[in-house]
Amino acid sequence: MSWKGIIEQYRSYLPVTEQTPIVSLHEGNTPLIQSHWLSELVGNGAEVYLKYEGMNPTGSFKDRGMTMAISKAVEAKSVAVLCASTGNTSAAASAYAARAGLTSIVLIPNGNIALGKLSQALIHGAKVAPVEANFDTCLELAKEIADKYPITLVNSINPHRIEGQKTCAFEISDTLGDAPDFNLTPVGNAGNITAQWKGYCEYHSAGKTTLLPRMLGFQAAGAAPLVHGKPVLNPETIATAIRIGNPASWDQAIQARDDSNGLIDAVTDDEILAAYQQLATRDGVFVEPASAASVAGLLKYAQRDYFAKPLADKGRLRIVCIVTGHGLKDPERAIKSIELPDRIQPSVESIHQAINLAG
Ligand SMILES: *Cc1c(COP(=O)(O)O)cnc(C)c1O
Repeated sequence: MSWKGIIEQYRSYLPVTEQTPIVSLHEGNTPLIQSHWLSELVGNGAEVYLKYEGMNPTGSFKDRGMTMAISKAVEAKSVAVLCASTGNTSAAASAYAARAGLTSIVLIPNGNIALGKLSQALIHGAKVAPVEANFDTCLELAKEIADKYPITLVNSINPHRIEGQKTCAFEISDTLGDAPDFNLTPVGNAGNITAQWKGYCEYHSAGKTTLLPRMLGFQAAGAAPLVHGKPVLNPETIATAIRIGNPASWDQAIQARDDSNGLIDAVTDDEILAAYQQLATRDGVFVEPASAASVAGLLKYAQRDYFAKPLADKGRLRIVCIVTGHGLKDPERAIKSIELPDRIQPSVESIHQAINLAG
């Protein structure tokens, strides 16, 4: 049977009825790929998997939430949707709104929006307003507008977004045959860690899994309000998708951390970029920088032997790193991290000289 998207697949777990018009691009069903070097690094008996969310239709996990948010907006007879976005939410909102024939409005904050994401919003026909403010201010403005006008807000404070995004945990559990022992994820506005935990809990209550994972969330060091316990006024990081100073799902993220006996910590931009490059060169998995925060966190905690005791106790450990968005979103970052070689003469000789063909 062909995959019809997360709503058709997990209908009984989602707030939809026969009357809900399903707006889908067949999102979900993303690859869960074992990383051999990361498995070895954690230790004998450990299996580390990458949940490659960049393989969603618009290139990030945001599609899981957006199929729900847009379907419910259509059901509610809304004609326009609105979001504040550092990029991927606007890409997903514009694509799903286009499919549903809705107007989409996008408030884009100051700072480096990856070109791929901006081009997505533009090509899908969104009304794009670059605002002279940071993300947190844009989100406040979006809330005000949604209160004043008959427009549906599709940021992750829209509860339907969380409902859709929890299906990531269902898929992981279905593929592994049970929940993993650890679930590592990048944290920005904290909707995703909230959604994943909700998904694991619901599957556990339904008897689909026998265990609940420990949730490990990773923020960028320059944008780590949950780690510091207070909002960051001017968040800074190269990982633009998680450059957020005052997460909308703050309390839920802390609850996910505490209820799962997990943690939320920070990783530096250098650690993020190192993980970003290693995922590309060692796993063949190209992600955007923010996505690599989960793997940067894994490397950091593996180095501290954090997994050693649970691994020894259990003899086997399954760890999932969510890699949230596709590397092609931000090709400029990739080009910046590598040096482009000089152009050479068209001869076997000069190619041999430039690239050691024997090696
Ligand atoms: C949105 C996003 C995040 C952060 O998710 P939150 O739900 O805001 O915590 C991380 N990575 C990518 C690629 C994203 O698009």
